[in-house]
Amino acid sequence: MYARKRLDIGCMDLASGLAYGALARDEAGLRGRIERWFSTQGNALACLSVRSGLDLYLQALALPRGSEVLMSSLTIPDMWRIIERHGLVPVPVDIETETLVPRVQSWEAAAGPRTRAVVVAHLFGARADLSGLVRLARARGWLLLEDCAQAFTGADYTGAPEADVSMFSFGPIKTSTALAGGVLTVRDPAVLERMRATQARYGLQSRWGFSSRLLKYSCLVALSKRPVYGAFVKACEMAGRDHDHVIQSSVRGFAGGDFFEKIRHRPGPALLALMLRRLEGYDGRRVEGRAARSRKLISILPEGVAVPGVQSPFHSFWVFTIVCDDPQAVVAALREQGFDATCAATLSVVPCPPGRERLDPRQARALLARTVYLPVYPEMPEREVERMAAVLREAVRGPRGRVQEGFSAPRLARG
Ligand SMILES: *Cc1c(COP(=O)(O)O)cnc(C)c1O
Repeated sequence: MYARKRLDIGCMDLASGLAYGALARDEAGLRGRIERWFSTQGNALACLSVRSGLDLYLQALALPRGSEVLMSSLTIPDMWRIIERHGLVPVPVDIETETLVPRVQSWEAAAGPRTRAVVVAHLFGARADLSGLVRLARARGWLLLEDCAQAFTGADYTGAPEADVSMFSFGPIKTSTALAGGVLTVRDPAVLERMRATQARYGLQSRWGFSSRLLKYSCLVALSKRPVYGAFVKACEMAGRDHDHVIQSSVRGFAGGDFFEKIRHRPGPALLALMLRRLEGYDGRRVEGRAARSRKLISILPEGVAVPGVQSPFHSFWVFTIVCDDPQAVVAALREQGFDATCAATLSVVPCPPGRERLDPRQARALLARTVYLPVYPEMPEREVERMAAVLREAVRGPRGRVQEGFSAPRLARG
């Protein structure tokens, strides 16, 4: 069985991480090198996670309570929960399937007199064109935050120069993962200084905690190898457990306990050393291989299957998703043939503030309800990608023996 995802980390990285746990000491030096990798002008801050960084930024800004933050409508729930925690009101702005970001008019329509900032997420590895939003945000005096957690592709993109904040994640399922860690570039030096000062007062991440995380993920990396993964899925079946659930609950960061207490720590030297190793050793070949396999698959996808984000100017296919009419049936057909596709998403739809139901992000909701994540990675031989497309072709034809209605959006261009 092909696992739904391969964690983007190798045995040597994991082994190095364990060694850093015992040996790494120079917290300030390591952090400085990571920050200079991102910004030679000193605009970057290395943190425990993107969520920790966002929380630091909002502490430093101290916007008036009740200020509104427009958010592209699909993201991980913690992002809007952090915004709420600061007394701010997240306001969803619906995204387009083709680009995975809102149209400029949609941002405008959701804005109001209390809008102070916008957060736009580049999803699935696509990198959106922000030029229209940049102009609008400038004209209105909004802060522009860009969430690049799913869009890291090495030094070629360290954030849009026009954004006030760009956020990069090195969490477990992200590209070039260090199993934790985030970097924010922050363009306002005064705000960045306040963030640094606050972070400096935080306690240090637990050294033992990080080492045990390395051990846990070493097991997960071993598990995602094809034969082992098949055995794991069977074992879950025998135990009467849904393997979707087992996996989703094991990769959640900061689960249990007080969330804010957990994210408010400084990254320890072992984590910083591993982040630095991943940055300095970044090799674009894996991302290129992933994108090449993805484009191959797009070129042979059947009718009735659309690929979100295909109209983005750039797409690195951090994950490969399709939208189709009967996602459950498609997942079942793929699993039957040894491809562990899933509908289980870590993303959710940003809820509307009370009384503003007209802003309900219907397109994001429809997208999420019809999305299937496919296993596509460089280790998969091309003929297996072809076989997966053939399984999909059968699956979307459906029991009635005809092609089902395609996604209601106009048929998407094909890469
Ligand atoms: C993973 C992710 C985050 C959070 O990153 P952490 O470093 O784990 O806090 C935020 N936004 C999106 C869209 C993500 O995928």
